[in-house]
Amino acid sequence: MAAKIKVVIAGPRGRMGREAVKMVSEQDGMQLVSVIDYKNTGKSLNELEGFTYLHDTVSVYSDLNQCFDEKSPDVLIDLTTPETGYAHTKTALMHNVRPVVGTTGFTSGQLDELTDLAEERNIGVIIAPNFAIGAVLMMKFSQMAAKYFEDVEIIEMHHDQKLDAPSGTGIKTAQMIKENREPKKQGHPSEEETIPGARGADIDGMKIHSVRLPGLIAHQQVLFGSEGQLLTIRHDSHDRASFMSGVRICVETVMNLGTLVYGLENILD
Ligand code: NAP
Repeated sequence: MAAKIKVVIAGPRGRMGREAVKMVSEQDGMQLVSVIDYKNTGKSLNELEGFTYLHDTVSVYSDLNQCFDEKSPDVLIDLTTPETGYAHTKTALMHNVRPVVGTTGFTSGQLDELTDLAEERNIGVIIAPNFAIGAVLMMKFSQMAAKYFEDVEIIEMHHDQKLDAPSGTGIKTAQMIKENREPKKQGHPSEEETIPGARGADIDGMKIHSVRLPGLIAHQQVLFGSEGQLLTIRHDSHDRASFMSGVRICVETVMNLGTLVYGLENILD
């Protein structure tokens, strides 16, 4: 029988982290060896509220270096905040631990730096701004449509605790559309914003609008307009469990990579 993949999760008390702990603990091929939580060092995860269902003792660390030295994990799943996630990813690479990063909000400079580091050390990394398979298909379908519709606006909608805007998925969608779309400044050539920001963020002439409201989870619609028609491609994550099949696939796949892959769509058939 193949050895279990030893996993560490950073951010286990978070909304995504809780789902990831559940998912990893249910996999026959994975073992949750520890978690990174700066508020509960030295405790066992089973003692914390909401985790008493775990059968095995899972130690809590705040120091990543100590955790990696003592537990020798294969994979770090990071579901924290942009600054912390970036630092965690770098530390993991220096310890030959393969990062699977769901945390969004990394800058393109940070992504370039991590790409170089992964290549230098020949270690797999997956950074996926959206782990939901349906969202990946939404991005792919949008990329296809962009060949025929050059006018596009993206509306991404998330809960009001989200730190980064636009969302990683919104930016990734625009980047994928860009590959198939002739650059074009949309709207009236003389249009003016009477209130700054009214037309949204601009990527290559495309517009991205970010909605933040309590009650939302993660939603996006991509609107393509042309003479007499509107095409809307929409995806909704109603529950964070929707992301977990993607996380599982990434943990399994990252074991066989030697470079950084950005986006779940690049590892799906
Ligand atoms: P969340 O509920 O705020 O969880 C973040 C967790 O990280 C919190 O428990 C926080 O603890 C913890 N944290 C912060 N700094 C830390 C540190 N230095 N060490 C360890 N833990 C630390 O956020 P979420 O909704 O779970 O989202 C987490 C990240 O995933 C965000 O970047 C979000 O945009 C992204 N996300 C990605 C996907 C995807 O499919 N890729 C889907 C949804 C969300 P405290 O609260 O105690 O500070």
